[in-house]
Formats: sequence, structure tokens, C-alpha cells
Amino acid sequence: VERAAEPSWSGPGRTSDGEPIPLLANVGSAADTAAAVSAGAEGVGLFRTEFCYLDAEDEPAEQAQRAAYTEVLAAFAGLPVVVRTLDAGSDKPLPFLTGSTAEPNPALGVRGLRIGREAVGVLDRQLAAIAGAAADSGAVVSVMAPMVATAEEADWFATRARTAGLERVGVMIEVPAAVLTAQEVFDAVDFVSVGTNDLAQYVFAADRMLGSLAALNDPWQPALLRLLALLGQAAQRTGTPVGVCGEAAGDPLLSTVLVGLGATSLSMAAGSLASVGGRLAAVSREQCVAAAQAALDATEPAAARAAVAEALS
Ligand code: PEP
Ligand code: MG
Repeated sequence: VERAAEPSWSGPGRTSDGEPIPLLANVGSAADTAAAVSAGAEGVGLFRTEFCYLDAEDEPAEQAQRAAYTEVLAAFAGLPVVVRTLDAGSDKPLPFLTGSTAEPNPALGVRGLRIGREAVGVLDRQLAAIAGAAADSGAVVSVMAPMVATAEEADWFATRARTAGLERVGVMIEVPAAVLTAQEVFDAVDFVSVGTNDLAQYVFAADRMLGSLAALNDPWQPALLRLLALLGQAAQRTGTPVGVCGEAAGDPLLSTVLVGLGATSLSMAAGSLASVGGRLAAVSREQCVAAAQAALDATEPAAARAAVAEALS
């Protein structure tokens, strides 16, 4: 029913009153890249570089990384691409980084940027490879770090990335502490991107890999949306761009709520671009704000969905 009601879409992303909301793709390989281009993505909001190396026994050489990244970036010459540094650990172990040391709680362990701080050489070589690929490809490249919990971590990463010659630096917002210190995090970076998959996992203390806990990891949970509202308010004060690149961004109805909460771009699987674009083109910014308020006022996901559908009808 949802799908049939959506008007057709051919980019760029914008609300019915003309506010641009760039609609970007999540990619992890050259194959994803082709799908993103043909679906009309305006760029890439999340390039999961660890997907290139899930089977790598050894650290890939800097030049090999540069070539692999260039292959993806070249498809987006002149367009924005956000490259995420290796998000290893937990659900995405990389043999050359996470090794065989088992942690009792990998989702709460040394993962993402925490590994980058232990293996600084690996991070620096990746940053150099990304800077090289940016130069080779002509894409407008930004870089961002996964699993950032504090402003100090954001600042540490930003300094390192800028030293490598990368000018646009951001961090993922996927740990609740980073939302609660958003103002200081924003001081350190040029943009942020919300990973709703992990943010939900950490807000609800509910493993995202467990199907039995899927109801808690539902991005329509009002507690998650209220946290995003705090982030949006903080971002408005500083004018910091806030992307959303978790699965939530690919839900057409929820995309209106995310825009109403302050998202300035949305990044999703290529297959969701048309339905999200169609939905956003049919609603004004004012309606997005009303949708967001309706969702925030709800006490559980089904009620939030129903209230938003009602607010937009
Ligand atoms: C997220 O956590 O929402 C996210 C986009 O990153 P990943 O799914 O790769 O952890
Ligand atoms: Mg994540």
C-alpha cells in the first residue's frame, strides 16, 4: 500500500517546497557503485571500506587500497562521497585487525576508531590511500570515523585526517554519548552522519544481530527519535550538516521524520532511493516538522508510524 501511494521520482532529492535533501547511496563495493549510479544517487553518504577487506588475512598495501577506493570513487567524479575508515570488530571482524583475541562483548569492545587508535599505522596508511584516491578520482571526498564516543576522539581523528591532506572530516554518530556531547563534537568536525543501526543498539542495550530483539532496534522507537531530536537541535545552533546513513534513512515514511528532526542528507541502499525521493517530493518542510513532532509524541513504534501517516494524510 505504502509503495503504490508513492509518486515516481527522478532526483535530485528535495521537499515539495524545494528544500534540497541530497539522497545518497551506501556502498561497499564496485558492484554497489553501479547500482547507486543507475538509481540516481547524488553521491555516496557511506562507503563502508571494511567491506573491501572482510576476507583479507593481511593489511592491504596502501597502493592497493588507493586503487580499490579509486574504483568506487571514479563513478562519482564531481559528486560528494563520504569514505568511512575501517569499521572493524564486532559484527565485522577483519582478520588482520581484530585477530583471534575473543572479547566477551565485541559490540562494546575495541572496534571502529578504537582499533584505529591502537593501530595508528593502519589508520594513517588508510587515510593516505583515501587522500590519493580522492586526487585520482575527482570525487568530492570526505572522510569519517566509525564508533566515536567522545569529542576528544573526534578531535584526534580530525587532526590525523587533516594532516593526511583530507579537508572535509566527519564522524559517525552511533554512540549515545556522542549525541549528549554533540556541541563539542561539532567543534571538532565539519559534519556528522548518524548510524541509526548502532545508535539503536546502544540506546536500547539490544544486540542488533539478534532477531529476537528486533522490536527494540526498530528505528521508529520514540526513544531513538528523541535522541535524534537533541542532535538536530544542537546542529541547528552550529549549522553542522547532519546526514543519516543507517537503515532508517531508507524508510520512506521515516525519512520525512528524519528531515523534520534536522537531517540535511540521507544515505541508503540504492534500491530505496526512488521510494524515499518520491515520498519527500510530496511533503513540505513544514509537514516534515509536523511528522517529526507526531513521532516524538508517540510512546511506541506502531503508534509513531500511525501518527506520522495521519499527520501527512
Ligand atoms: C549504522 O551503524 O547505522 C551504520 C550505518 O553503520 P554500520 O551498519 O556499518 O555499522
Ligand atoms: Mg555502525
